Amino acid sequence: MRVLVTGAAGFIGAHVCERLLSRGDTVVGLDALDAAPGDVALRRSRLQRLSGARGFTFLAGDITDAARLGEAFSAARPEGVVHLAARVGVRAPDAEAPAYADTNVTGFVRVLEACREARVQHLVYASSSSVYGAATPAPFREDAPVDQPLNLYGATKRANELMAHAYSHLHRLPTSGLRFFTVYGPWGRPDMAPLLFLRALAKGEPLRLHGDGRMRRDFTFVDDVAEAVLRVLDRPPSGSPPHRLLNVGHGEPVALGDFVGLLERHWGTKARVTSVPSAPAEMVSTWADTSRLEAVTGFRPRVSVDAGVARLVAWYREWSATSR
Ligand code: NAD
Repeated sequence: MRVLVTGAAGFIGAHVCERLLSRGDTVVGLDALDAAPGDVALRRSRLQRLSGARGFTFLAGDITDAARLGEAFSAARPEGVVHLAARVGVRAPDAEAPAYADTNVTGFVRVLEACREARVQHLVYASSSSVYGAATPAPFREDAPVDQPLNLYGATKRANELMAHAYSHLHRLPTSGLRFFTVYGPWGRPDMAPLLFLRALAKGEPLRLHGDGRMRRDFTFVDDVAEAVLRVLDRPPSGSPPHRLLNVGHGEPVALGDFVGLLERHWGTKARVTSVPSAPAEMVSTWADTSRLEAVTGFRPRVSVDAGVARLVAWYREWSATSR
């Protein structure tokens, strides 16, 4: 398959590209790289690992730049598009709200338009567990009401789902929205709890634990997430409209305090935990019902948190020894 992956230098994007390439697909990766906030060196390292692979082309560019996006579509002539580029994180400073809207809303419409024009066979895009609000019954099901997001990021992701539905309805563009739940693993995001915790533990610095450690997250290992993305990509929806939403989570919420305990055990030292208040943008608990994903793909995330943390720690040991 010829696939265009946006956000290819990102955490999930790099893992998805690696899998697509290893099964022989032709991949064009698009990413704003140093024009987007975040750890640019890490993005470059992820790209470096992909650069030698047969069938991979990388283009630096912003999804809100229609001309550059058009070049990426021309280069890729994609049958499938995996759209992962986004402004990420639930605790964005208010001043960044317009930038979130630019990338996550305007950028998404540009991707939809390009997919329509190119008659793409399937657009798989990243949504988020953040679309669920504080009142959603657990485990979260895709048919639960999602009109009370706790943060702007979640609101932009919900907007994506609604816009994709409209495009699927109007233009019969097959679209699948994946609601990812707290993805972690090697080459992960330095702004997210797993790597923030691990870095503090490794450096003997205070580990800032939001809430009292009882907040729960449905931690989902990145290999499982990449597997789910490929399986969904291979199965475009055929309903009317051809649009679907799928949770991609492990289905087993873990208290943050217990997650820290696993990190301590695998790293081999105790953390210096300091409690900080949880932010109003934070959900108390997330928990995916994955039966719809399983019905569509025959797959559900299966890497246990213990095994996943072991692999995260093993990667971090090697990476921190060689990179800084
Ligand atoms: P990431 O930040 O590692 O990757 C996103 C990539 O998008 C980055 O490489 C960045 O450079 C790129 N990007 C940002 N703005 C861009 C723009 N305007 N044009 C082009 N590229 C741009 O994040 P990730 O964790 O890999 O997340 C991938 C997707 O999954 C995102 O849409 C995110 O919202 C979603 N998601 C992730 C998680 C998670 O736990 N990691 C959970 C829910 C949803």
